[in-house]
Amino acid sequence: MSLHSVVIVGAGQAGYQVAASLRQEGFSGDICLIGNETGLPYQRPPLSKAYLLGKIGVTNLCFRPEAYYAEQRIDYRNDAACAIDRGNRRVTLASGAAVSYDHLVLALGAHNRMLPVQGSELDGVFGLKTLADADALKPRLAQSRHVVVVGAGFIGLEFAAVASALGAAVHVLELGDRPMARAVSCEMSEAFRLAHDGWGVHLDFHQGLTRIDGVDGKVSSVVTSDGRILPADLVVFGIGVIPNVTLAAEAGLAIDNGIKVDAHLLTSDPAISAIGDAACFPSHFLERHIRLESVQNAVDQARNVAARLMGKPLVYAALPWFWTDQRDLKLQIAGLSEGYDSTVVLGVAQERQITVLCFRRGQLVAAETLNRPADHMVARRILARPAMLTEQEAAAPGFDLKAWELAHR
Ligand SMILES: Cc1cc2nc3c(=O)[nH]c(=O)nc-3n(C[C@H](O)[C@H](O)[C@H](O)COP(=O)(O)OP(=O)(O)OC[C@H]3O[C@@H](n4cnc5c(N)ncnc54)[C@H](O)[C@@H]3O)c2cc1C
Repeated sequence: MSLHSVVIVGAGQAGYQVAASLRQEGFSGDICLIGNETGLPYQRPPLSKAYLLGKIGVTNLCFRPEAYYAEQRIDYRNDAACAIDRGNRRVTLASGAAVSYDHLVLALGAHNRMLPVQGSELDGVFGLKTLADADALKPRLAQSRHVVVVGAGFIGLEFAAVASALGAAVHVLELGDRPMARAVSCEMSEAFRLAHDGWGVHLDFHQGLTRIDGVDGKVSSVVTSDGRILPADLVVFGIGVIPNVTLAAEAGLAIDNGIKVDAHLLTSDPAISAIGDAACFPSHFLERHIRLESVQNAVDQARNVAARLMGKPLVYAALPWFWTDQRDLKLQIAGLSEGYDSTVVLGVAQERQITVLCFRRGQLVAAETLNRPADHMVARRILARPAMLTEQEAAAPGFDLKAWELAHR
């Protein structure tokens, strides 16, 4: 079937990128980009970093100025998709309008898992997902003395880093036994634990909360699992996200920890693709379906779909990579360390410059670099090709990642 119209639902990182890549690839048909947040499509990573610190403004967050969408003939609509009529290939919008498609791309993202405790509705309790969240949080943060963060994952720790830099007393509650445990090695967790400690952030492991208390509707304290009362004028939670699947599920598409897609990012309906945080795809690296929440994943999947729609289909096999910035620490991760069974650490921990190479059965599967961006780029190139660095080679005295790459070209 020839392709005249592409409708994209979700105007975040992935949705915007499909529209932009389709035009870059020379698509001349209709593109309708539907986003249910107000304003222009924007990037989320700075929300918990530079934007919250006041270092950049909204203009810097937006992918493109308004004129871009008109120039590129991208019909960008602030609206919400309510239903998909697959038989007639039509999407109904909250405004009452309907748009027809030859191909539909679902880039719906994810929403925050909410705090399941009494008091989470109090004024002063925040999640951090959208620009609206950040705009509400920013002035409160400026006035807060006692901040409790729930969750020591990426978002929780990025926020803790900002709040401590702004002078607040920060207490982080984490059910697990180390920072960012789901995503990084023990060695890297330890580097971040020490850094937060040095910034005065109190990391409280094996600890949740049972209640949030308030005075006149405003947060005043948090009760921890072991019964302590922590003073709090601000509570920020980052306890994971849930993929937005309702629209797809109601349309009868296959769902399994996200909208299930094949190696070409097609859903169970060949006229519909799904990408980004909402999509669960067969991983080239783990040989099972996974869902990733990262800019890399959103952008590379968007490009893959745009190329397929332009007649250049490719199995999705991009190397995953990720970053987080916390004060003077830049952590970059290449590959997926899941199931790693050994590590080799390069560099000097005291100088906050290390690379942790993660191996599974002796083969390199991921590299975590702290303030060593050159190593990150080399690791990405090494991980993206078949000839793999072994643990034995990396553990040799004086091993250097760049030199290894040059020798194995
Ligand atoms: C605070 C924060 C910091 C982050 N930092 C990093 C980082 O440092 N590095 C990194 O790699 N990643 C980071 N991420 C993750 C990254 O931003 C996401 O993985 C990425 O945005 C996913 O893109 P997406 O398009 O799938 O989803 P999103 O960007 O979330 O976009 C989905 C959009 O679809 C909209 N939508 C949903 N349903 C509908 C509907 N029915 N109709 C219309 N619109 C709809 C949503 O409202 C949303 O606007 C961060 C995320 C957050 C929240």
